[in-house]
Amino acid sequence: MVFRTEALTKVYATGETQVHALDHVDLELFEGELAVLLGASGSGKSTLLNILGGLDHASSGHVWFRDLELTAMRDRGLTRYRRDHVGFIFQFYNLVPSLSARENVKLVTDVAPNPMKAGDALEMVGLGHRLDHFPAELSGGEQQRVAIARAIAKQPEVLLCDEPTGALDSKTGVQVLEVLKEVNETIGTSIIVITHNAGIQAMAHRVVRLADGKIASVDVNDTRVAPHEIAW
Ligand code: ADP
Ligand code: MG
Repeated sequence: MVFRTEALTKVYATGETQVHALDHVDLELFEGELAVLLGASGSGKSTLLNILGGLDHASSGHVWFRDLELTAMRDRGLTRYRRDHVGFIFQFYNLVPSLSARENVKLVTDVAPNPMKAGDALEMVGLGHRLDHFPAELSGGEQQRVAIARAIAKQPEVLLCDEPTGALDSKTGVQVLEVLKEVNETIGTSIIVITHNAGIQAMAHRVVRLADGKIASVDVNDTRVAPHEIAW
């Protein structure tokens, strides 16, 4: 098992009101799987992903990454956990505009314990011919693929993706999903993808639905489709 949560709860207090972003979530996610996290806007998907990724603290309950209890760790430990084990991909690419594609990837590989070469990671996402381009010289889909290369170049054990195709047209979205599938299958990276696009669940091993901060359902796919077969 790669992640396990037990009664995981996150409460945001804003003024007089309290929002239960996560409400006693019990969830198990498995090594080597590609899991898709679905749910309406505001259902708690990003909150859950951020806590699994050590970017945020729970209000109560427990989270384990393998046998490491994240909820028992302080900031310094979580920083080390993120650096050593986790890659993130967000909807907005967060590339450094003054650095080339290769340099953007090197920012991460220079401090990772087990990185691949920046050029190899860019090759893997089909950008071997764009190594020295700056973000402004790349299309949206290419920028997102640089961000993916940056995340996979660490060879992280888990890759957490928050709406990675949300800003992309269907063609580039499919390219991005192809890369995620490839990383999942060749490096064995466990992947969690948050998406609004219900079609993407068809390529997942496991589909988790959240509603109002609670797990609504967990389904396992026996037959999965390739990214290009997804009804976008
Ligand atoms: P999703 O990613 O599924 O759209 P989020 O996890 O971002 O949902 O948010 C879950 C709930 O928590 C929402 O009602 C949201 O408004 C609330 N929330 C998220 N972040 C904060 C915050 N920093 N302060 C207050 N409320 C928040
Ligand atoms: Mg979100």
